[in-house]
Amino acid sequence: MFRKVLIANSAIPFLGLRGFIVSSRPMNKETTQIVKKLLATPQKVVIVGHKNPDGDAVGSCLGLSFFLKNLGHNVTVIMPNDFPDFLKWLPGAEEVLIHERETQKSAQQIEAADLIFTLDFNSLDRVGDMQTVLENVSAKFVMIDHHQQPADYAVATYSDVKMSSTSEMVFHFMEALGEAGKLSKEIAVNLFTGIMTDTGSFRFSTTSPTTHRVAAKLIEAGAESAIINQNVYDTNSPERMKLLGVALNNLNIMPEFNTAYITLTQKELDDHNFKKGDTEGFVNYALSVKGIVFAAIFIENKQENIVKISFRSIGNFSVNDFARNHYSGGGHINAAGGKSSQSLNNTINEFISILPRYKNELTNAS
Ligand code: 5GP
Ligand code: MN
Repeated sequence: MFRKVLIANSAIPFLGLRGFIVSSRPMNKETTQIVKKLLATPQKVVIVGHKNPDGDAVGSCLGLSFFLKNLGHNVTVIMPNDFPDFLKWLPGAEEVLIHERETQKSAQQIEAADLIFTLDFNSLDRVGDMQTVLENVSAKFVMIDHHQQPADYAVATYSDVKMSSTSEMVFHFMEALGEAGKLSKEIAVNLFTGIMTDTGSFRFSTTSPTTHRVAAKLIEAGAESAIINQNVYDTNSPERMKLLGVALNNLNIMPEFNTAYITLTQKELDDHNFKKGDTEGFVNYALSVKGIVFAAIFIENKQENIVKISFRSIGNFSVNDFARNHYSGGGHINAAGGKSSQSLNNTINEFISILPRYKNELTNAS
């Protein structure tokens, strides 16, 4: 019934109606019309985030869920697996269904849905075991996401790789529907958390003037920045701090490639009572070394029999391309992830052997 629409937003600045509109890159009109039609009557909605959900995945899904509930829809948020404790305080977090834990209940909700919103990921292989369930339902999909190369599975695709975060896009989504007035404290707290975590507290290059304008609106609607920062960043366990010490001790610097990487073995994680989310942000320490433009962290995962890798860069060096080309992964130009099914040692050796191919890019990166 609906045509598939896959239109990335243009870079033309939008001056706004009578100065009230915050979005400088609004969701385009065609996508907006489709979404309005889809939401014209009360719907059974499922909102899905990606595997190993981060602050933006959880914040954007929960923010959107409060918004759609305010519009009168029946909404369930489902994550493929659990999310870190530092996000458990978010409004609505206690109601999130975890597919890995409550597989049957989650599959039932997905099968009963009229509409499925997929947030903060660009391809259905980012949801782990939920992929098969999602691929076999009749519901219509809406994608809201800021990752490179979005797949074409939704009847409405709101994709903008220039956006700081999916959480910022949920604000623009509300505004495009003419419903920014529905911004509640619950929505604001969730979206602010997503923007804050995905921008490294408004530091990364995707942070635009509009990101700050959206953040200001969220603060006005009740998101208390200081408290949110404390809840997310000042709840470290002693074990996590010791694990950071180990990670920093394992930092390797390769000045000839402006590259730095960190390794963590399963034993090092076990010795520090590793919990989901404990290694979040560690890779940024490697990137913070003077002169480094490319950083990686390799984390052994014996349970899944993989090495999970996070890549970060500064400037033009695309870690999205690097992760896609070598580690079945992807993400953004300056932040991406992937995995290897080889041992940690072999993974590192291979990584080191690949680097010379990128020497020019890495040494000329700016
Ligand atoms: P992180 O390194 O923090 O896990 O992820 C950095 C970015 O890359 C995030 O936007 C995340 O969604 C994306 N990402 C992480 N791992 C993968 C992966 O295995 N595949 C793809 N396509 N993207 C990933
Ligand atoms: Mn994101």
